[in-house]
Amino acid sequence: MRPVCARCSVAMVPKKNDVAAVEMLRTRRYVLWSADLYECPDCGCQIVTGFGAKPVSMEHEPGFVARCDDGGLPVIEWWHSLREKDGAA
Ligand SMILES: [Zn+2]
Repeated sequence: MRPVCARCSVAMVPKKNDVAAVEMLRTRRYVLWSADLYECPDCGCQIVTGFGAKPVSMEHEPGFVARCDDGGLPVIEWWHSLREKDGAA
């Protein structure tokens, strides 16, 4: 089931599979996840969903930094909250 844009009431379309969604801890890249990027065909809103069951790599593992930028795909850094994100700025 594809995600639905609540604003436009239309199913979103997959924009890119297997994007690097990097979980952040303050200013640090912490956990690398593989996920899917969807976009609303009407308003252009994008969401990241479809995270794998397990992370691709974690900060303490060898090669973590390189793996985050491995695929040449856009890297999406994300925080657990706006407060945490703003604290990193
Ligand atoms: Zn929309």
